[in-house]
Amino acid sequence: MSPDVLYQIKDKLLEDDIISENKIDTLIKHLITYSPSNIVYPGTIKRKLSIPILDAYKILYALQELGVVKQVYEPYCHECDIFYDQTFPSLSAIPKQACCPQCRKDFNLATDAIVIFEVII
Ligand SMILES: [Zn+2]
Repeated sequence: MSPDVLYQIKDKLLEDDIISENKIDTLIKHLITYSPSNIVYPGTIKRKLSIPILDAYKILYALQELGVVKQVYEPYCHECDIFYDQTFPSLSAIPKQACCPQCRKDFNLATDAIVIFEVII
């Protein structure tokens, strides 16, 4: 992500009180490593900043409002702890026959599709 975009992100997150002063630099240093079409996993943000997963989603939804990322879906197998390795723009775009690449269990779209974020700029 470019310094311009990162500066905007920093401003917005602090202004809206979405992140604390002492975590913002860690976040910015992490975000600088992403390029367009990269996927940002809320779980990664959670781990990097040691924050609750809901706070990680708040940050990512704020980035979406700025037009920096967009929400996409990726099926995930809770038993094997692996992602499908393909993202979809909506739940309805996930093929009916999509199943876990490891245990072959059919994905349940209500519980197995995780909201993640694709970098736009
Ligand atoms: Zn599985």
